Amino acid sequence: MPQISQPVARTGPHIGTDIEKTKMGDFPRQPPSGIKVIIVGCGFAGISAAIECDRKGHSVTLLEKVPNIEEITRFGDIISFDPNGSRAFVRWPGVIEAMERIARQTSWLDLYHWKGKFVTRQSFANEKGWGHRINGHRGELHNIIFQHAKARGIDIRFGQRVTEYFETDDHAGVIVNGQQMFADVVIAAEGVRSRGRKLVLGFDDKPKSSGYAVYRAWFPGDVIAKNPMLKHLVVNGDTHQGWIGPDLHFLASSLKGGKEFNWVFTHVDDGNIEESWQFPGKVEDCLKYVEGWAPMVTEIVKSTPKHGRLIDHKLVFRDPLPTFISPKARICLIGDAAHPFLPTSIQGASQSIEDGVVLAICLEKAGKSNVPLAVRAYEKIRYERVHKAQAMGVKTREKWHKANFDTIWDNPESIHLSREPWLLNFDAEVDAYKRYAEVVADLTGSKAKL
Ligand SMILES: Cc1cc2nc3c(=O)[nH]c(=O)nc-3n(C[C@H](O)[C@H](O)[C@H](O)COP(=O)(O)OP(=O)(O)OC[C@H]3O[C@@H](n4cnc5c(N)ncnc54)[C@H](O)[C@@H]3O)c2cc1C
Repeated sequence: MPQISQPVARTGPHIGTDIEKTKMGDFPRQPPSGIKVIIVGCGFAGISAAIECDRKGHSVTLLEKVPNIEEITRFGDIISFDPNGSRAFVRWPGVIEAMERIARQTSWLDLYHWKGKFVTRQSFANEKGWGHRINGHRGELHNIIFQHAKARGIDIRFGQRVTEYFETDDHAGVIVNGQQMFADVVIAAEGVRSRGRKLVLGFDDKPKSSGYAVYRAWFPGDVIAKNPMLKHLVVNGDTHQGWIGPDLHFLASSLKGGKEFNWVFTHVDDGNIEESWQFPGKVEDCLKYVEGWAPMVTEIVKSTPKHGRLIDHKLVFRDPLPTFISPKARICLIGDAAHPFLPTSIQGASQSIEDGVVLAICLEKAGKSNVPLAVRAYEKIRYERVHKAQAMGVKTREKWHKANFDTIWDNPESIHLSREPWLLNFDAEVDAYKRYAEVVADLTGSKAKL
């Protein structure tokens, strides 16, 4: 019989809503709500939800299966947060400033025909008023957030593999390393292979092949600087460019003033659904996909150092879930566990941040005695927006992979990324506070009685 343990209350300082920012560890925080939260998974979704719950005065224990933070931060390459995601970072003292220091400093994307002819420059300069666009190394950005969470005193436990979820009317819990842990609510943020999905869905949903895979590489910019055909990509500061061709798009960028370089390309895949971020890719295989492409593209691929980080990432697809929450509404899915995104949406990470922001507010507004209502309100606020955002990824992939250059030369802007204000110029915190009462009235039927 497994031993029963209670989640340990976070020991960080609790200060009032009035801002008293002084030193590390002293952060603006709502008074304690008494709500105990277990979060499973320390990816961007989990760690951000932990910070947001801490801001709202909830007591958080975060459980992560890998043994230490380095096992999370040493993987990955370029990741993007659009203004809607980075709004949260602005509210976490010191975080956005630290991110800006390592992020790509470009406000445009140059797009080329796959054979090499320049098509158009898409400028993002007019989005400045919407907030920060943060594009940088996933591990470095994650580490900044992690250090902030640690400084807040959040209880983060590594080497904790959750194997089961359960709930009653009064609490939710997990079995972790063979032991039971209880809380008022459990947040499953364990990425695309989530176990929490089974409880929420009532069955194991099988991942499907999306029919696409992504080769991704990240390496020092000096190799590019030594190549006369490519050096302009790194010697004049940061750059960002893409080549668009039949069923494939190739993106490359430089960061830190050209000191670092990365490229990614999405291509049609054989349908094998193995998914791993660590799966090594081979330059020879990549070159087969871009045979006959612009010399710059093939030269970039050839420049990838043998021991550089090149991975072949199969894109798994899952049907949109009918719900993000468990039958008793004590367990909820957030981030990729709830809604995996295609890279062309450029929203996976941002939407995972919005989830935590909204959930923490719903818990704050509902209070300890109404946790299931909070969880239902979270789903109602998030569901439609997330699925609308997911659809944008498919739209961009179709636009790029089926690009008809007969018409594009007349209207080059038609291949620009869609940058829609409803999605990007959006503050999930403001929106959740604004909509909470109405959403709850809808859920409880009290609106109809008014
Ligand atoms: C190693 C890795 C590298 C990535 N690199 C990139 C990239 O370069 N660019 C990009 O755009 N996107 C990348 N992604 C995806 C991107 O981070 C996510 O799409 C997005 O940030 C949403 O994150 P998430 O927190 O929902 O899920 P994830 O980032 O997948 O995080 C889930 C976390 O849950 C933990 N976990 C899973 N199961 C359990 C369990 N049973 N018990 C306890 N903990 C558990 C995992 O170890 C992981 O830390 C990467 C994801 C991973 C896992």
